Parts: sequence; structure tokens; C-alpha cells
Amino acid sequence: MTLAVLKSRSLIGIQAPVVRVEVHLTSGLPCFTIVGLADAEVKESRERVRAAIQSSGFAFPCGRLTVNLSPADLPKESGRFDLPIALGVLLASGQIEMPELMVRYDDTAYKPTLANWVFAGELSLSGVLVPIAGAVSIALAVARDDQHACLVLPSQSADMAARVPGVQIYKALSLIDVVRHLTGAEQLPHATPKESLAPTLNDHCLSEVKGQLFAKRALEIAAAGGHSLLMSGSPGVGKSMLASRLPGILPDLTEAESLEVASIAAFSATNHHFVWGARPYRCPHHCSSASAILGGGARPQPGEVTLAHKGVLFLDEVPEFDRRVIEGLREPLEAKEVCISRARHRVTYPADFQLIAAMNPCPCGWRDHPEKHCSCRPEHIDRYQKHLSGPFLDRIDIKINVGEIDHSWLNLPAGEPSSSVRVRVTRARNIQLSRQGCANYEMNSSSLDKYCQMDLEAKKLLAKTVQAMRLSARSIQKIRKVSRTCADLDGADLIAVSHLGEAIQLRHKH
Ligand SMILES: [Zn+2]
Repeated sequence: MTLAVLKSRSLIGIQAPVVRVEVHLTSGLPCFTIVGLADAEVKESRERVRAAIQSSGFAFPCGRLTVNLSPADLPKESGRFDLPIALGVLLASGQIEMPELMVRYDDTAYKPTLANWVFAGELSLSGVLVPIAGAVSIALAVARDDQHACLVLPSQSADMAARVPGVQIYKALSLIDVVRHLTGAEQLPHATPKESLAPTLNDHCLSEVKGQLFAKRALEIAAAGGHSLLMSGSPGVGKSMLASRLPGILPDLTEAESLEVASIAAFSATNHHFVWGARPYRCPHHCSSASAILGGGARPQPGEVTLAHKGVLFLDEVPEFDRRVIEGLREPLEAKEVCISRARHRVTYPADFQLIAAMNPCPCGWRDHPEKHCSCRPEHIDRYQKHLSGPFLDRIDIKINVGEIDHSWLNLPAGEPSSSVRVRVTRARNIQLSRQGCANYEMNSSSLDKYCQMDLEAKKLLAKTVQAMRLSARSIQKIRKVSRTCADLDGADLIAVSHLGEAIQLRHKH
């Protein structure tokens, strides 16, 4: 009777709690069972483990084999337990000689020599390791819990996880590689971060947007303070063009933010489009379901709001989105995360994205156009605009109309390039970070009172505007935050009347 105990990691949202893989072999009628509330996929792992062990030149033990994945109440989807189970089987059957790992059934003293080793990897029938989802989250959790931990991952997943500091990561191509490493025959190579290309900013340069000075200024302010932005204007005025230029003028991601973005990108086991350090830009179609945007499914998967974490979520023709999507956006816009509850567990995904929304002024798009005729009936226009509820609109910091382009725009010189706008944006963002430790959009009411000090003239203008426009408390907060950003772009300590005036102008209802 022998028992082998190894460690692996489960995945709940972006958390990766410890899972103990216990493999127990005893004489008796041959059978192989996996217990511990394992999902169907883990049960399939039984067949993969059996085939992989045999393909790797080992014998599958004859006897009563029980695998326990504990704790039992953790959800354990995916085949990432294949590798620790296979190693456990080989250890328990004495095919790997590592006596310090083995625990005799009647031994009271458990010697956790391999306690700081963590294994995760799905096996193919031939014994080759295939990439797993969530490798970066696993590495982050291992590094946080145990400073001396060693993590063994499939080769392709290991390189992405190698960016995580404070954990030794070995990359393995197959089961036999891992066995050779454990027995001291041949060392596994250390994973090294893949040199990825620096994000290119010239693909979508702001200089290609001619004219539209007001909209470009609004975009710069939105970028500097991380503010959400709603643009209203006729088709073809350049709303999508402006939105796609936003990632190019945003400040660089910090190392910690890059890791967060990478851990979300690693949810897809084979993500070939991921560029280290680039801010995500997501533009889902308006037909997308609520679970595609907000996240969901029987096994909750991250939605667009999470995939856009630390980046930009662009919703074109926002009134065309399902009402549930629009209302569902209120939670992540406020809390910067989404919580998905299912019968057996609750998953929280980060969702700190910058929302850029665009809409037409009416269903046909030509209302208030100087030349084209609008064919919409008043009740249709009303219904279209009411699709965006007051509470949703209240959560958007900047609301602007994007005007028609003048016929002479072709002759205009190229605008300012993204790279120089980005310098100003980064400078303003650094002022915010050193003053209050966060960007202006994240300020709570106590830091608003502390850091949004206005001069006397500005105070008078705010009081007048509140009365004239009957602003809600949330609207006043938004105006104060945006005016703080305008002052930061100016390098001013005190918010002046010009900064406040600009912020009020940027909150005009269409
Ligand atoms: Zn119309």
C-alpha cells in the first residue's frame, strides 16, 4: 500500500487555489477511480493518463488505484491535473524512485519533500504535454504563496508564465521529460519570457484624423484621466476612427498591470495574438449576448468587459445593444469587476476597462444634418435615445457631439501624431499617480474633496451650473473629476474656471 501526494492548482476566476493530488495504490482487483467532485473532463483524464503512461514506456500498475483531488468542494474543470496524476501513479507504483516523496500508508509522519513543487499540464495520449489555460494565474498564485516554489508547466504555457517574478518555472515537453528531471537523469530547462515585439503605436495614428479638434481634445482628456466617453454623431464622422486611436495615446502599462492583462489573455490556452505590455482594445458587435459581454456560461468564462481589462472597450451603436447588456455594464463601471454567481460557486473577474461608446443621433442617423433628411418619427427618436437609461448615462464621464466634417477637410494638414499626444497624457497621468496614487477616474468622494480644490471663480461657476442644469450628485462628481484632469493636462495645482468650463462643456447632453 503506497500513497503519493503531489500539488497542483485549480482555477476559479483568476484565482488559483491549491489542489492536493493524492494517488493511492493497493493490491486488489484492477480499477482506477478519481474522486473529489471531479467534473466529466477530469474523469476523461483517467483514459488520457493510462494511455500516456503506456506510450511513455512505463507499465500501468495492476491493482486498486484511487486518485483523490482535494479539497473536494473546489471546481476542477480542465485536464491540468493529468500530469500530477500520472506522476502520482508512477511514484505509487515504484516506477519513479523518489523515496522521500512516498508516504507509507501506516506512516504517521508525512515528509513533504516535494511540497514546494507544483505540477500542471494536460497529457495527450502519446504522453506529450499540451498547453493549459490560466498558466499565468497559476504562476502568480504559486509565487504569492511560496517563495521557494518550483512550477512545472507545458512548454508553450511556461514561456508566458515566465514573466511572473518570484517563482522558478520549468518547461516540459512530455511526461518522460518530467520523470527524467525528478530522477535526476536530465534537468528540465527553465522557462524564459518570450521576447515579444513592442506594441506598435503607428498602426492607428491620431494624425490620420483630420479636423475634429473638439473630439480629439475630448479623447486626450479621456485618455489622461481614464474617463469613459460617449460620442454622438452621424454615420461617417469618424467616431470609430477616434475610438481606435485611444490605445495609442494611453500611458504604458506598469509591470503589475501587464501581468494582470497576461493572466486574462492566458485564459485561452493558445493565444497567439497576445502582445506583452499592449493595452487590450475590444469592440464587440451590438448583437453580442449579455454573457458574451459580461461573462457567463455554466462554467463562467470571462466576457468582453474582462478581456478589455486595463484597456479599451468600444461599443459602437450602443443603443442597439441588448438592454440587459447596457444595464449590466453599470456594475463593472462602478466596481471595476464583475461577479458571476452559479449554483456551485461564485466567480469574480476583474473588469477595469475604459468605456468608449458611440451612437447616432437618431435611428437613421441624419438628424440635425445640414444636407441629409432625417426620416425618423419623433417617437422612434425618443425610443432610440431612451434605450440608454439615466443611471447608465450618469456613469459616463464625458459626453460629446461629434460634428460634421467640413468639405475642405481633404486640404487640411495632417493632425498631431499619437506619439506627441501620448507624452502630454503620460505626464498628466503621472501627476495623478504621484498625488493620489490612482488615476482621476478612480477617485472616491473623500479624495475628490481633498484633491479637487477650485479657485473662487470656479466655485462660483460650479454653483451656478448645478442650479441651471439641475445636475445629479453623480454628475457633479464627474464634472469635478474631469476638470481635475483638464487642470493636470495644464500642470495646474488649483482647478481654474477655464478647466471647469471645459469639463462642463464635455458633459453636454446631446
Ligand atoms: Zn433619423
